[in-house]
Amino acid sequence: MAPADERSARPGADADVVIVGAGILGIYQLYAASRAGYSVRLLEQGGGVGGTWYWNRYPGCRFDSESYTYGYLFSEELWQEWDWSEEFAGQPETERYLNYVVDRFGLRRHIRLGSRVTSAAWDENSATWRTRTADGFEARSQYLVSATGVLSVPQFPEVPGREDFAGESYHTGRWPSGAVSFRGKRVAVVGTGSSGVQVAPAIAGEAESLTVYQRTPTWATPLNNHPISEEERAWLKASFRSIRAELEASVTGFLHKPATRDTFDDTAEERRAFYEEIWSSPGFSKLTANYKDLTTSPAANAEWCAFLEEKIRGLVTDPATADRLIPADHLYGGLRPPFVTGWYEMFSRPNVSLVSLKETPMVKVTETGIETSDGTREFDMIIWATGFDFGTGAMRRMGITGAGGLPLAAHWADGPQTYLGLMARGFPNLFFPGGPHGASGNNPRYGALQVDFTQNLIDYAREHGFRRIEVPADEEEAWMAMIEKLRKYSSFQERGQYYGGNTPGKARRFLLNPGGRPKLDQFMARAIDRGYQGFLR
Ligand SMILES: Cc1cc2nc3c(=O)[nH]c(=O)nc-3n(C[C@H](O)[C@H](O)[C@H](O)COP(=O)(O)OP(=O)(O)OC[C@H]3O[C@@H](n4cnc5c(N)ncnc54)[C@H](O)[C@@H]3O)c2cc1C
Repeated sequence: MAPADERSARPGADADVVIVGAGILGIYQLYAASRAGYSVRLLEQGGGVGGTWYWNRYPGCRFDSESYTYGYLFSEELWQEWDWSEEFAGQPETERYLNYVVDRFGLRRHIRLGSRVTSAAWDENSATWRTRTADGFEARSQYLVSATGVLSVPQFPEVPGREDFAGESYHTGRWPSGAVSFRGKRVAVVGTGSSGVQVAPAIAGEAESLTVYQRTPTWATPLNNHPISEEERAWLKASFRSIRAELEASVTGFLHKPATRDTFDDTAEERRAFYEEIWSSPGFSKLTANYKDLTTSPAANAEWCAFLEEKIRGLVTDPATADRLIPADHLYGGLRPPFVTGWYEMFSRPNVSLVSLKETPMVKVTETGIETSDGTREFDMIIWATGFDFGTGAMRRMGITGAGGLPLAAHWADGPQTYLGLMARGFPNLFFPGGPHGASGNNPRYGALQVDFTQNLIDYAREHGFRRIEVPADEEEAWMAMIEKLRKYSSFQERGQYYGGNTPGKARRFLLNPGGRPKLDQFMARAIDRGYQGFLR
């Protein structure tokens, strides 16, 4: 039994709402529920708040979303008080921001850190969730919100000997909080996804040698970060309402202006000029502000890729290294495109080399280094930038059992079945903002919408005396049919590794929301317009 907080929960429960995860969405759900007068407990396994921005403290970790479009939009005062220093802020700043929000809105007293949830069971008789943590904490609540993140369980490649390595070994997603020195060390970075391409250039200048192990090359393009000038800051402060309105109307949750033209509407010369403009534009606008047929027409996409190839060859001095860095098996957007600062340029340094695991596969990790089919290299440190058990990793490990004792992990064994990427039939009074099938762009913009929907639904149930909320079968089926139909229209399906996850032994399913914000809005509006018909008992 655990006291929730100073508010008392409904009879038969310790808290009205238990939230798992203190990332950007768990914190927002905590704010929304406590502000609406519910007793709330937030359980977080980490030693601090911030989620992604607590764990990923590796050198070079920063946003790919513009800082001010990523931060919260629920409070104009917060917007006015907080100054982002860069267009794409680094991890320490975002962690500071989320701590600031927690204190600013008096949320810390509801948060229990060091609390890893190991089971959460639905009890039909009392219509409550019983949640337990590894350290013996237990709470019964009417609602359970799993804000556990889709990129929160680090993943390692299946290679023998990883535990045998006697040097320093880190995963980017579990980076230690103390200082890590690279000076005079022979360092290996394994993985060239979004984290690998950030960490490698950040340490290349300090390490004695840096060897980058690449399994799959990706279409990395410049982040084009810059400090926020006084002029831009003044514009941001003055434009809160218009920026929020624009973000809320955006399909992808960014301020980027979508292009109105198709690739071959332009002449070769016009295309080149446009591509140069896009190359110099910030972050994700390579995807969101590019020609509008980029992800639907393979010929259009190939044209952009040819431009990128030329750019890469211009930046990488060694032609053999350039060959290895240029993707041959997927078009732009087929894998999640990373955004970089100094990545290609780094390979011109004499202390940096690239090993293609396609050419020379990794055989094993030894006590002193990494063995590939080409021989062994010795290291003082290995950095595993090998990603996460994407999409369902955290929820499948949380021991969730729904109605009739149905385990979520078994229910989702062939991939998740969801409604709005937020609810699952068979799991009453459970919500998972930021979950699989929710996002396809700037994550907090979708996640906030899911939190708002959850809060409004809970409020409605409270006002009308309902105790049990479950998505009706036809609504879940309609959402899943939308995912299936729209994913086929994009180039994402070609490889689908990132978008479907690449965890060994796990069924690969498309895990994003290809309908973007408009589909979320449409489905949510339908449920609300019908007075949540079929959801409430
Ligand atoms: C390096 C990196 C950079 C990123 N950059 C961007 C970006 O620029 N733009 C963007 O839109 N997205 C980005 N993302 C995606 C990012 O994950 C989301 O934007 C966002 O942070 C997700 O927030 P969340 O609250 O849903 O989950 P998270 O931030 O992942 O938080 C989930 C929390 O749940 C906790 N948890 C999980 N399981 C349990 C359990 N069983 N018990 C207790 N606690 C548990 C975890 O410890 C974690 O703290 C990035 C991801 C990474 C890894």
